[in-house]
Amino acid sequence: MKELTELKNEFYEVMYKYEKSFSEEGVMANLTAWQTAKADLLSLLRRHPSWNEDEQAIIFDCNQALSIQPDMVDETAFTLLDIASEILSGEQLEDFRTALHAAVSGYSCTVSEENLEILRQRGGIRCAKDQKASRIIGKLCKKYGVDRHTRYNAVFAQLADALNPLTMQEIGVLSVHPCDFLEMSSKSNTWVSCHRLSDGGYQAGCLSYMNDRVSMVFYAVDADVSGEYRKAIRRYRQMFFYENGTLFQSRLYPADTGNALEVSKLFRHLVQKAISRCLTEPNLWYLKTKRPDLNAHLSTYRGSLHYPDYNYHGNLSVLQGHRKDTELTIGAAARCVCCGNELRSNGAIKCSCKEVVVCRKCGQTVARGQGIYLEDGFYCKTCLHICAACGRPTLGTMYPAYNRRGTLVEVCQDCYQQLTSGCASCSMASACRAMGHTLCEKATVAVA
Ligand SMILES: [Zn+2]
Ligand SMILES: [Zn+2]
Ligand SMILES: [Zn+2]
Ligand SMILES: [Zn+2]
Repeated sequence: MKELTELKNEFYEVMYKYEKSFSEEGVMANLTAWQTAKADLLSLLRRHPSWNEDEQAIIFDCNQALSIQPDMVDETAFTLLDIASEILSGEQLEDFRTALHAAVSGYSCTVSEENLEILRQRGGIRCAKDQKASRIIGKLCKKYGVDRHTRYNAVFAQLADALNPLTMQEIGVLSVHPCDFLEMSSKSNTWVSCHRLSDGGYQAGCLSYMNDRVSMVFYAVDADVSGEYRKAIRRYRQMFFYENGTLFQSRLYPADTGNALEVSKLFRHLVQKAISRCLTEPNLWYLKTKRPDLNAHLSTYRGSLHYPDYNYHGNLSVLQGHRKDTELTIGAAARCVCCGNELRSNGAIKCSCKEVVVCRKCGQTVARGQGIYLEDGFYCKTCLHICAACGRPTLGTMYPAYNRRGTLVEVCQDCYQQLTSGCASCSMASACRAMGHTLCEKATVAVA
């Protein structure tokens, strides 16, 4: 199992990325709350064969999950035949059955030349190799009048879905990693939400979602990402809440893409399938989409600081055999990342306590004013070196030089190279170097 100290260091990295004040105490207050609240969810998700302990997430290959499922095709084709038998009979029904079978038996979105011939002969329709199987079935139903059946539209849509799965190359990640909550709206993304740590109005909400029992972050990253998924650009992100066989799917971000509905549906299928797999129960869920039905299953923890997207968007699924009155309590107390006390306002992840930072090198907590932000984090003044020549702080190797008063000082690599470049052709070079460049005019550093 992943150690809390490892998670702590990963939490720190996010704080550095957003240049946030924080202390070990504040970070640990949140991590301990996370660990306690998410214990049940963690032990459930760990049962999945694609669980990745380091990522604290289940990793999905969306493309694979989207392949045509022969049993789904068979099942819906059978239902279509069933409604056809209420309209057709005798030889007509037999021709329809043979033609429909020819259209679906390849389990492909297109139809082979051999089967197209059967469709032309028995179905009496014109069809070509570049036409989709679902389109050909539509033609067939129209020809035989099956499209007049009241259930036709719904059944045909299911069959078309089964034959034309959405193609999506991305990798899906169902995560409970603390950093995925912190960066649920990462500044690396091309889309924004109010939970973004750099400027969002509900920054503290990331901690509320992180510290509750039910919240999970689902997101999709590019297919070539092969580790540290939480650091990759999230193409999509969607919150899911789960407890006792009840799953709520919240709003998809970004929501303005043309295929948002299909993408949401795919993500829901992936998460449903993963959970039923963890429970080793059949993947059969009842879907609820009407707002009053949904509201009966949702409540927001008093004092939590997230934006409740789920009150306006989303749907609920209940796994067969589970109680139908489970109420999901979303959110929890968010704790200040500096002092660990409970936060009271949405806009920041720290309260009005003293601003402190943890030195990235030595781990000391120092007042923010005593720390310097350099490259990738805060450093205390003991760990940073100030160049006597250019005055810039640096973490790199320092080089000895003498100032005009003959005092030994430290200079950075850039300054050292500049100061000693003239020495390369100097006849005294080796003696000069042996004496710490004290002989050479060029090697002295002007320090006020
Ligand atoms: Zn505080
Ligand atoms: Zn330090
Ligand atoms: Zn320098
Ligand atoms: Zn010299």
